Amino acid sequence: MRPDLQPVIVGAGPAGIRAAETLVRHGLKPVVIDEAPRWGGQIYRQPPAQFQRTRQTLYGLDAKAAAAVLDTMTTLLPHIRYRNDTLVWNAEGGQLDLLHQGQTSTQPYSHLILCTGATDRVLPFPGWTTPGVFTLGGAQVALKYQGCAIGSRVVFVGTGPLLYLIAYQYAKAGAKVGAVLDTATLRDQIAALPDLLAAPGLLARGMYYVTWLRAHGVPLHGGIQALGTVGDGRVDAMRWRDSLGEHEVACDAIGFGHALRSETQLADILGCRFEFNVQQRAWLPVHDDSGRASVPGVYLAGDGAGIMGAQAAEWAGERAALALLADTGQASAPALRTRANKLERALGRTQRFRGGLERAFPFPPTWAKQASDSLVVCRCEGVTAGDLRASVAATGTTDINRLKALTRVGMGRCQGRMCGVAACEILAQCSGQPLQAVGRLRGQAPVKPIPFAMTCATSPSKPEAST
Ligand SMILES: Cc1cc2nc3c(=O)[nH]c(=O)nc-3n(C[C@H](O)[C@H](O)[C@H](O)COP(=O)(O)OP(=O)(O)OC[C@H]3O[C@@H](n4cnc5c(N)ncnc54)[C@H](O)[C@@H]3O)c2cc1C
Repeated sequence: MRPDLQPVIVGAGPAGIRAAETLVRHGLKPVVIDEAPRWGGQIYRQPPAQFQRTRQTLYGLDAKAAAAVLDTMTTLLPHIRYRNDTLVWNAEGGQLDLLHQGQTSTQPYSHLILCTGATDRVLPFPGWTTPGVFTLGGAQVALKYQGCAIGSRVVFVGTGPLLYLIAYQYAKAGAKVGAVLDTATLRDQIAALPDLLAAPGLLARGMYYVTWLRAHGVPLHGGIQALGTVGDGRVDAMRWRDSLGEHEVACDAIGFGHALRSETQLADILGCRFEFNVQQRAWLPVHDDSGRASVPGVYLAGDGAGIMGAQAAEWAGERAALALLADTGQASAPALRTRANKLERALGRTQRFRGGLERAFPFPPTWAKQASDSLVVCRCEGVTAGDLRASVAATGTTDINRLKALTRVGMGRCQGRMCGVAACEILAQCSGQPLQAVGRLRGQAPVKPIPFAMTCATSPSKPEAST
């Protein structure tokens, strides 16, 4: 390996593992950093080592794909430098700031592949901060990582393929699923069919989950509006409305979410150019077909560059690594081209399927309009939809970063990762602008909370931590 080459991969999910595999195959020794204790990312999250559950139990229909990804990483370990349990909390030209077990350090890089994945896209509803309400991802993490359920009778609310998958996983694990309440309608799903047929295997799997839930007596309702939780300081039931009127379903826990949002803060801090993606209603870092970001030496792959799913993340990780190899002269471009072309074609087909999913499970278009003034949007800072609207009315602000400064929305522990989507939607609604016109919450270091003393001790020149 050229002595000046130090490729670093952030994220040990499907994208990061395939990127590492590709670099190792061509003689490089990348550093792979992940804040999780074990590799696998979100979909192939592994439980603590001493847990005994089989991969079949953990990953169900994904067990074979999980084994392929997880075992690849096992074989890579002697050939990479794997830094688990390590948060990358800041990035600047040529260097990452890390936090591992309370200690900060730095990691230089010559080339950086960001495979930072995604988190739940949160659209609050009345009562969402009540104990017993979890995001869909949180509900799944409890099951996958710790083998426990969030409640004994759980209702799942929101939209997206994960809604049905996680309900299925809960029911299979023995939990009682009170209902699945989807804001999308059957009409949305029928209209999406031609694009969903671009990936018939994935479509069949989604249909299997729905059919299985129905066959096991789980009530599935479409075209709903979540009205809120029922219960005094805890969840006793979920209220919702559909074309037939208002309803209530008893439960002691709720999992909710409206698809996913990309983790883009590191790309933002590095100065990568962003563009608004209409389909995903999100600002995403721009990259070329090979995963190169606008900043030289930075590559993007997987859900962190736009939600594409686990299989596409593997392809995109490999593709980004091929681009890095070509750019650094580690392999001749023509030799890599055949494989890169194949990956790009596969990703193109997935793009069509993703479009179908967005149509099948659309963002609820009236969410912001229906959000009452008392709805808590930012739970870290206790900012309501009414606070945001009042600030817009008083100041005429039209920009989300200005609104953050005025109201503290997105300024707390989550740094806007939880509330940013909803805050932008409310601002667009009450200022009468299209969503893209309100901008995006700028990424700030630290991207996740770290002890305040750490920022002062290691990097006096760094921006102040806002937590
Ligand atoms: C909670 C959740 C559950 C999901 N469950 C499923 C499922 O069951 N089935 C399915 O098909 N799809 C699921 N998805 C979607 C699926 O996980 C993704 O499509 C796929 O994992 C994308 O792979 P990736 O490598 O791009 O990212 P991920 O698998 O998300 O991996 C990203 C990795 O980057 C690490 N990371 C991110 N930021 C930092 C940082 N600053 N410092 C250090 N490490 C960092 C994370 O710890 C993570 O391990 C889920 C998504 C989420 C958010």
